[in-house]
Amino acid sequence: MDCLFCEIIKGNIPSAKVYEDERCYAFRDINPQAPTHVLVVPKIHIASMDEVNGENSAYVSAIFEAIPKIAAAEGLTNGYRVISNCGEDGCQSVKHLHFHILGGRKLPENMG
Ligand code: 5GP
Ligand code: ZN
Repeated sequence: MDCLFCEIIKGNIPSAKVYEDERCYAFRDINPQAPTHVLVVPKIHIASMDEVNGENSAYVSAIFEAIPKIAAAEGLTNGYRVISNCGEDGCQSVKHLHFHILGGRKLPENMG
């Protein structure tokens, strides 16, 4: 399996690490859309939100526990946005579940 984010998690492709624990890894997006743009991924390959189930949801809850810690460490005291693009209509480009954390400025109200 050829997965960019699995290679990043393994360290085979370099990334700017922001946070890591047993179940998740967070790093800076290579093409930031806001002053803070962090991606948080599970340390197992889950292709998208569509693949979340009772077997792997502990990885997703670990991500959601990590997000406020990451936001605090990034100084996002005035709020932020969390996004997961899924599938074709969601414009998901990397087929490994990831959550974007965007912040550091007032974000546009329109989400699609
Ligand atoms: P998606 O469009 O799938 O929701 O988001 C994929 C994100 O991964 C994009 O925001 C893109 O900039 C980011 N990305 C793609 N390739 C790399 C990479 O090699 N390194 C990092 N750090 N981010 C990447
Ligand atoms: Zn993967």
